[in-house]
Amino acid sequence: MAISVWEKETYYAPKDVVIVGCGFVGLWTAYELIHKYPKLKITILEKGTIPSGASTRNAGFSCFGSVSELMFDVELMGEATMLETVKMRYQGLQRIQAVFDKKVMDYEGNGGYELIEKNGSYPIERLNDDIAYLNKILAPVLGIGNKKSSAPIYKDVSNKISQFGFQQIQALAYSPYEGQLHSAKLVIALQQAVQAKGVQILFNTEVKKFKSHSGGVSIQTNLEGDLETKQIVICTNGFAKTLLPKLDVVPARGQVFVTAPIPDFRLKGTFHFDEGYYYFRNVGDRLLLGGARNKAFAAEKTTSLETTKLIQDTLEQFMMKRILPKGSKKPKIEMRWSGVMAMGKEKKPIIQEVQPNVYCAVRMNGMGVAIAPIVAQKAVKLMRG
Ligand SMILES: Cc1cc2nc3c(=O)[nH]c(=O)nc-3n(C[C@H](O)[C@H](O)[C@H](O)COP(=O)(O)OP(=O)(O)OC[C@H]3O[C@@H](n4cnc5c(N)ncnc54)[C@H](O)[C@@H]3O)c2cc1C
Repeated sequence: MAISVWEKETYYAPKDVVIVGCGFVGLWTAYELIHKYPKLKITILEKGTIPSGASTRNAGFSCFGSVSELMFDVELMGEATMLETVKMRYQGLQRIQAVFDKKVMDYEGNGGYELIEKNGSYPIERLNDDIAYLNKILAPVLGIGNKKSSAPIYKDVSNKISQFGFQQIQALAYSPYEGQLHSAKLVIALQQAVQAKGVQILFNTEVKKFKSHSGGVSIQTNLEGDLETKQIVICTNGFAKTLLPKLDVVPARGQVFVTAPIPDFRLKGTFHFDEGYYYFRNVGDRLLLGGARNKAFAAEKTTSLETTKLIQDTLEQFMMKRILPKGSKKPKIEMRWSGVMAMGKEKKPIIQEVQPNVYCAVRMNGMGVAIAPIVAQKAVKLMRG
């Protein structure tokens, strides 16, 4: 379809900044940019009819991190990088709550739990030492948990296992610093906040290619004619390699299901198992369960938004053998879906200028709900007003 002169002079007129991807990172980048530089002409280009990556398809944990996950991160990346990542998550959660009222995104601060089994991948006998170590090193970095009055960052609440009814679980750790929210409501609130400041969002617009030149960047999309912009920020996370093939970004599909309401449902909060490979929470009186990617690592390195029988069956077994009390009737599974995360060799986001006037903020490593506001601030610092 050819565009009109009116459209060319408005929707498709040259911009100061084009952001590719309307997930949390793209939206927070627009939010930070337009508040820092209110006169900028900013457009977000999104290939889907609605944001179609992970931001509206995740589990909605405003994730802080579990004991075994953080201890594994120390082994993988060292203490300093682990601390930096937790700090980003914590500051991100604070930023979300500073900008939006809790009600807008159904935020609930019920805390997060980690289920630990004997003879699992995490040595259960280390739990209390690890809790003491993490509480000690995290407190000064985050500025929490070190006052006598404040709750400890992590504590052993194994005495609650029977209350929840978990099976084959021998220890339970808890942190009051994790919360849960409605991801799509937060995305919509962000969309409305940036649009109110004049940011344009074009859906069904897929960036196919871009080219830097002396005046900025020319962008080729599925629409007719190129779009011109002074700067472009690529916020396409799991899809980043399509536009930036050299980046160390590997797509990682996450599969989820939600049950029908469960009578006498006992869970309230967010729950992790096996270094975060399994995660579940309550959505009212329904169970949302996701994960099991480690059952089929290679097959799940995909951007295809299907669900598979192997992963879904594994999740169902996990629900019956671990989560629900012994003898429970199997609940109906009401919905199944998947979303695409981005991983890489390092568990850190990539925020950089990849070419003149071309920036990227990608590879959220499955924690984008929490870290996106801080990733966006870091990306904006690299850019010109
Ligand atoms: C099942 C699942 C559970 C998760 N649970 C949690 C959780 O509980 N807590 C947490 O913190 N994180 C969680 N995550 C991760 C979190 O959702 C992501 O880290 C976060 O949403 C990433 O945001 P983003 O904006 O970087 O990417 P996305 O939300 O993926 O946004 C990228 C956008 O770019 C668009 N796009 C891609 N290519 C193009 C193109 N060429 N042109 C135009 N548009 C394009 C896509 O359609 C997409 O909308 C989960 C993820 C999944 C999949």
